[in-house]
Amino acid sequence: MDTIAAVATPLGTGGIGVVRLSGPEAAAVADRVVRLAGGKTVAGMKGYTCAYGRAGDADGEIDEAVVTLFRAPRSFTGEEVVEIAVHGGVYLVNRLLRACVAAGARPALAGEFTRRAFLNGKLDLTQAEAVADLISAEGRQAARAALSARDGALYRRAEAAADALTGYAAHLAAWIDYPEEEIAEVDPAKLGGGLRRCEGDLAGLLGTYDTGRIIREGISAAIVGRPNVGKSTLMNLLAGHARSIVTDIAGTTRDIVSDTIRLGEIVLHLSDTAGIRGTDDPVERAGVDLAVGELARAQLVLAVFDGSDALDENDLRVIRCCKDAVCIALVNKNDLPQRLDMEVIRENFAHIVTLSAKSAEGADALKKKIEELFLLERFDPSAAVVANERQRAAVADALAEVREAADALEAGVSYDAVCVCIERAVDALLTLTGRRATQEVVDQVFSRFCVGK
Ligand code: GDP
Ligand code: ZN
Repeated sequence: MDTIAAVATPLGTGGIGVVRLSGPEAAAVADRVVRLAGGKTVAGMKGYTCAYGRAGDADGEIDEAVVTLFRAPRSFTGEEVVEIAVHGGVYLVNRLLRACVAAGARPALAGEFTRRAFLNGKLDLTQAEAVADLISAEGRQAARAALSARDGALYRRAEAAADALTGYAAHLAAWIDYPEEEIAEVDPAKLGGGLRRCEGDLAGLLGTYDTGRIIREGISAAIVGRPNVGKSTLMNLLAGHARSIVTDIAGTTRDIVSDTIRLGEIVLHLSDTAGIRGTDDPVERAGVDLAVGELARAQLVLAVFDGSDALDENDLRVIRCCKDAVCIALVNKNDLPQRLDMEVIRENFAHIVTLSAKSAEGADALKKKIEELFLLERFDPSAAVVANERQRAAVADALAEVREAADALEAGVSYDAVCVCIERAVDALLTLTGRRATQEVVDQVFSRFCVGK
């Protein structure tokens, strides 16, 4: 292994900038770049301590510096790691990095520190992915979930399932290969029970994917309704500033106005659409088509009705469009005398919130309803969460194989076939954690990282 170096802090101006070195020569390289006070050396430092000195290169002094030493194997990468901190300026930090390279380090590739940590067994693939998720987390729950994954929540669940399955497969294989030996007889009922438990566990794990994704990425939500029910007013209320055009003239919003807002812990990618109504005007027609398209794509539809008005044919059109969508009916303008036929609304919508977009009354009820609808209230960020498509595919593969194994066993198919399915499930789980991942999989994981991570 060579010794790698990269700028570990964002390139820009800040209080401090850090160049990180990892590899067997890390301390030696640092000693060529930094002269520590009192004639000490980095190589002679105690692990997990800092020392003060002056960093320099062939052109002279760069800056004062603080050096921190982590001894192998108790470091992030599992190798000897040295962090050299100087004042955070682009010029200083880049010059310090060049000095480290001149002193024998190689510029690190994207994700190379974390890759070394993986190769040295400091973390598994799900934990490595969590490092990237932690760095990019934008909300409290997203960060909390990433930290749990970094701590190994998903890793432990996957390994536990793989261990149990490996046990079953080994027993079956031994029974098949050495029937005359003294091997405990395979009890199909007991094995079947174990496989079904594992199936349930993996299915539960898979179920965390959608919620986890919503926590990380937010929900795409379309505000739809006939003209003048208060869509744009609602958009402005949720966005907290005037974005959409609110007028008394029906059909003002022709294009889709989008905004990303935060409702408590929920991120909504909202779009305010043109009023849905029958029209002969080609321009307005195009706006209506856009609205219907947006409605079909959205994960959540907020169908707005005017509570102070009777339902009309355009409202019925809206109701028809919402038939297949995950939908909340918003009965708006509850500050006015109510005239809407709630019976029809109740018949067509499982989720209804009454509110006033103008006075903001009911906005909390809307937030609660969304949390309930997407099971966000039950989301436990400290539990194992399937966090990306790679992990989802691996868990889904394992689940399918375990299910097939259990079905085959119940159908009386040969133990050979059952064993093959179980082994495939184990493979999928070990691909998930990286214990048996191919180079392609490992490359894919680390391609998400940038230099210095
Ligand atoms: P859109 O065509 O569905 O986007 O409707 P707008 O948001 O442009 O609103 C149409 C009219 O209804 C405007 O005059 C709004 O001020 C009014 N409006 C919207 N929400 C409410 C509400 O909750 N209460 C009352 N009294 N008026 C509202
Ligand atoms: Zn509007």
